[in-house]
Amino acid sequence: MNSFFSKKNLLIAIFSVLIIGLFLFVSIYFQPKRDIIIQPPTADKTINAGSSSPDIATNSPRLTEPLISAPNRVTKKPFGIYITPQTSPVSPEKFTGYHTGVDFEILPGEENKEVTVSAICAGRLLLKKSASGYGGVIIESCELDGQEVTIIYGHLKLSSIALKVGQTVAAGETIGILGRGYSSETGGERKHLHLGIHRGASTNLLGYAQDKNLLGNWFNILDYLR
Ligand SMILES: [Zn+2]
Repeated sequence: MNSFFSKKNLLIAIFSVLIIGLFLFVSIYFQPKRDIIIQPPTADKTINAGSSSPDIATNSPRLTEPLISAPNRVTKKPFGIYITPQTSPVSPEKFTGYHTGVDFEILPGEENKEVTVSAICAGRLLLKKSASGYGGVIIESCELDGQEVTIIYGHLKLSSIALKVGQTVAAGETIGILGRGYSSETGGERKHLHLGIHRGASTNLLGYAQDKNLLGNWFNILDYLR
């Protein structure tokens, strides 16, 4: 009886060791496998995070300021405003229509100072002359969001513009200075910059559109400034 019990106990002990051994083997064997499964998704997340940043960097091309502190100077005639001699923020007023450009005013103390105007984009000079309502005016060809446009810079001192028609201009390059207020340099207007951006490659000096639908041919520079 004694030997029978001890044999049975021995079998139970061996069986128990085998069970425990099997359990340990299974738990150790599966643990590293879980680690391997966890790692690839972490690596994928890193790749996704990396690929999303170029999307943020690809903004539409931006234009350079034509004057220092340009947005702060738009205080009288923004893009698209309807002007009549009776309702104009400027007096005296000779124009009527929808403003096809943006007017940048001079700041306090600039009345008798040279105010430098810079090219808002890289392009080529298409026109340079004295025109009614503008005084000195130039037109630059340029590309905006992959489209051809022309840029009007109005009320400049014509003799300050060294660039010749056909020459190329870099963005931010000095074009000239603003004309003297209420003189032939500004077409009799106050000292300020009129800047228009016209759709297409043809030159167009229109400053005010009589039909509101024609505003669709013009862009507001403030939508594209850096
Ligand atoms: Zn204007």
